[in-house]
Amino acid sequence: MKVTYIEHSGFLLDTGDVYFLFDYYKGILPEFDKKKPLVVFVSHKHQDHFNPWIFSLADMHLDTLFVLAKGVPYKNLAVKFSKQLAAQGLNSILPLKKDISTIIMLSNGKELKIRTLRSTDEGVAFLLSYKDRIYYHAGDLNLWLLDGEDEQENKNMEKKYFTEMEKLKEMDIEIAFVPLDPRLECNAYCGLKTFLSYTNCQCVFPMHFWGKYDIIDAFLERYPEYTGIVKRITSKNQKFFIKKENLL
Ligand SMILES: [Zn+2]
Repeated sequence: MKVTYIEHSGFLLDTGDVYFLFDYYKGILPEFDKKKPLVVFVSHKHQDHFNPWIFSLADMHLDTLFVLAKGVPYKNLAVKFSKQLAAQGLNSILPLKKDISTIIMLSNGKELKIRTLRSTDEGVAFLLSYKDRIYYHAGDLNLWLLDGEDEQENKNMEKKYFTEMEKLKEMDIEIAFVPLDPRLECNAYCGLKTFLSYTNCQCVFPMHFWGKYDIIDAFLERYPEYTGIVKRITSKNQKFFIKKENLL
């Protein structure tokens, strides 16, 4: 399995026989093997998670499916950016509501189960189940605790986040992508720390850190028990090879 960090919350996961591209908004994409299906996920429409350019991937890689949170605009944009999508009537775009589960059949004959969680910001988080392995991309589902915010607001935020984390309780997640946002200052670690405490995940990629890679080191200094589990991203286009035992 290979994970490529693109930028911000954008990652490409190559499981071996399918590509999952998450929240691409800018950066360099590696060359795709044309024989493997590509599934493009968009957690919500904010500009740091969605670039309508992604629809042009359908012209470069014919076997592309788009899974978008409901609310991500696509009808005019897909036609504008892709001849292929314009010709085929947007059949390969699947908008999904919050808090639902669905199963799709990929062109390689394998099932992909998708569950959406409710973001604490906008849109959804994706929980995927593919060939007995579970993958999670949080989108902007995070514990957005703001220092100086109304205490009640922060309490509500905690309640919403814990409700979603309950759904992942003790789940064996193979690979997860979770926000670690330095703008939250003293509360920056809370969302990721909570995720790690709730789940059995041995491989977590921090994201949404606005190019401030040091926050990953700072997190691991504070919580050394997650060394090896929380991956140290140090540059764009960095590739990580994940074995079954999650040894790099
Ligand atoms: Zn964001």
